[in-house]
Amino acid sequence: MLAEIRSLNEECGVFGIWGHENAAQITYYGLHALQHRGQEGAGIVTTDGRTLKPVKGEGLVNEVFTPEKLAKMGGTGAIGHVRYATAGGSGIENVQPLLFNSTTGGLAISHNGNLVNANHLREHLERQGSIFQTTSDTEVLAHLIKRSGYESFEEKIKNALSLLKGAFACAILTEEAMYIALDPHGLRPFSIGKLGDAWLVASETCAFDIVGAEFVRSVEPGEFIIIDKEGMRAERFAYPNDRSICTMEYVYFSRPDSDIDGINVHSARKRLGKQLAKEIQIDADVVTGVPDSSISAAIGYSEESGIPYELGLIKNRYVGRTFIQPSQDLREQGVKMKLSPVRQVVDGKRVIMVDDSIVRGTTSRRIVTLLKEAGATEVHVVISSPPIKNPCFYGIDTSTSGELIAANNTVEEMREQIGADSLTFLSVEGMVQNIGRTDPGSKCGHCLACFTGEYPTDIYPDTVLPHQKEVSQ
Ligand code: SF4
Repeated sequence: MLAEIRSLNEECGVFGIWGHENAAQITYYGLHALQHRGQEGAGIVTTDGRTLKPVKGEGLVNEVFTPEKLAKMGGTGAIGHVRYATAGGSGIENVQPLLFNSTTGGLAISHNGNLVNANHLREHLERQGSIFQTTSDTEVLAHLIKRSGYESFEEKIKNALSLLKGAFACAILTEEAMYIALDPHGLRPFSIGKLGDAWLVASETCAFDIVGAEFVRSVEPGEFIIIDKEGMRAERFAYPNDRSICTMEYVYFSRPDSDIDGINVHSARKRLGKQLAKEIQIDADVVTGVPDSSISAAIGYSEESGIPYELGLIKNRYVGRTFIQPSQDLREQGVKMKLSPVRQVVDGKRVIMVDDSIVRGTTSRRIVTLLKEAGATEVHVVISSPPIKNPCFYGIDTSTSGELIAANNTVEEMREQIGADSLTFLSVEGMVQNIGRTDPGSKCGHCLACFTGEYPTDIYPDTVLPHQKEVSQ
């Protein structure tokens, strides 16, 4: 589905490189590959060993950077970031990497995820005299590092990381080193790559492919990696907890050409579609998927059911960037601009429409209407994940419980509201088994909290949802 027209959004993407003479340019291409993870702002900070140089701005990667700006940055180490922000204000001050200068040296941080104890830590730091310039969780980490009583800089970072709770995949840059860390539950994907002698880190492996780098391994939960002129060293800032990777990375967020812990995202989605066809048999003439993220599952459904796959919906790629619209009417208009039914495919047909998820239900209702207006005699909606009934506190803007259609309605009520002839969700077991992870335990290394309500970390009373954080600015 299209990130701009729905209310299920990723917070951001992180990229870093150490030891390459074109560090800024390679980071630009890496961020380009991660653009689907955030379209509201982008930034790069480079180091030449003496100073940290930032360029950042609001907008898409190719709007923020020009070849001239990148050439002026120079340096052989860089970290970058693409950011998603909800309606209600973003602001250049929140665009990452955040850069902090002090007499003891500079520090830049790119962070993907959401901390569940950020408010608690922020209050504690403010009582000690810290003054915050942004509403970003990332600044909490910077203050913790600066205030840590440990001697060495590495111990300061490790100590600060050990105080964070929630989801965080971080790349930290100083004049002399790049540091990489992943939260002890491993909620977000984070991979290490190599390009010649240079080391890379990225939220998704598709960013390695675009720059010709090879995948080396995933960052492990609780791991702390130091990359400097001596090479790469792996340490820990925390013992790993049970792995709880965000399941929606496989279902919806990540690009189909990315691999997460050795599992290709397109292949996983195809298996989810096949499993759906095993769980529900529907008499229909054609299967179609909502572009882009549901195409793989639709192909899988078609292969398993024997019902032909057709391109029943196309995405208008030249609409340009549209911001998420705050009102329901404008959101629906957004769907109309971005998706068109292929009349010749659906006219007079019983259509199975595969989508990856339903959040508010607005988008599904609009697409069902589009297909029926184009002549579909029946529209059966099949969803390649279970109903989303609980908010996400780990960096995915799934809206509050009150806005989640599945939190407040039965499947039959939802079917009626979206105007479909039938509505089917994939089972939790079917989803987990078919993604194909083999971690020990019944969850096979997944976070399933938005489906089951079982959160892998404590949730603090003052934990702020990503959505609320933006609105409160
Ligand atoms: S709650 Fe859902 S969206 Fe959030 S990290 Fe867990 S699986 Fe992902």
